[in-house]
Amino acid sequence: MAHRADDLASLLADADHAVVLTGAGISTESGIPDFRSPGGLWERYDPMEVASLTTFVTEPERFWRFHRPRIDGLAGVEPNAAHRAVAELERRGIVKALVTQNIDRLHARAGSPAPIEVHGALDRGSCLRCGAAVSMDELVARADAAEDGVPRCACGFPMKSGVVLFGEPLPADAIEAAHAEAEHADVMLVIGSSLLVAPVSELPALTLRRGGRLAILTESETPYDEMAEVRLHGRAGEVMAEVVAALDRRAA
Ligand code: NAD
Repeated sequence: MAHRADDLASLLADADHAVVLTGAGISTESGIPDFRSPGGLWERYDPMEVASLTTFVTEPERFWRFHRPRIDGLAGVEPNAAHRAVAELERRGIVKALVTQNIDRLHARAGSPAPIEVHGALDRGSCLRCGAAVSMDELVARADAAEDGVPRCACGFPMKSGVVLFGEPLPADAIEAAHAEAEHADVMLVIGSSLLVAPVSELPALTLRRGGRLAILTESETPYDEMAEVRLHGRAGEVMAEVVAALDRRAA
């Protein structure tokens, strides 16, 4: 059965503890390509290779040639209607927590108070050898100052951003918080994720196992489609703006 934004609004309005889980698809309307859609990054690179710990350690120049445009690309982008709608639902107390796989900080910039960033974020630089941390501005300044484009720590080791690389462990605090929220959720709304990347792909199963309900808003299919109470295929920004409008109508 085809669902509409009204169905999602009803599900959210009836929830006691709605949790939103987002992926790269929520940011494509801001101009940031996802991995798997046509034209996505996966078609041009193998991120598992270039964005890996092994490449960072063994070929830092190559790593930074791929990574630097990701950082620079954020300068010209803005949160879109979907990021704003999620922040508004949090402000209204309808959504209690937000878990994101995205590293782009657009949720925070849209006003989400505490996104749980399970893949880290482009918000700082750090040294894997001595643990030193620097701001994003400082990280970029060091990359600009280096002939090979690789920012270096005072200890001499190449620095990385706060993004979790393939081959690195996920931040334990964020993963623990995401699990706790998924288990507590009576509604989980997934926006813009193919739900193919573990361990985030396991979160909807935790919600379902505890008797919670699932809503999915993504363009492509996901492994959970049959289990979703509400399944929407539209564009995240348009649909989420409609959901907020439908909630306004219910409240009027
Ligand atoms: P994915 O690329 O696997 O899936 C994206 C999903 O969003 C697909 O289902 C696609 O159909 C859907 N989609 C694309 N545009 C949409 C739109 N406008 N409205 C609704 N749905 C839309 O992404 P994923 O599940 O997040 O997993 C891939 C990994 O990519 C994650 O680990 C994430 O960290 C990383 N990533 C992040 C960014 C970012 O921070 N913006 C960008 C690229 C990749």
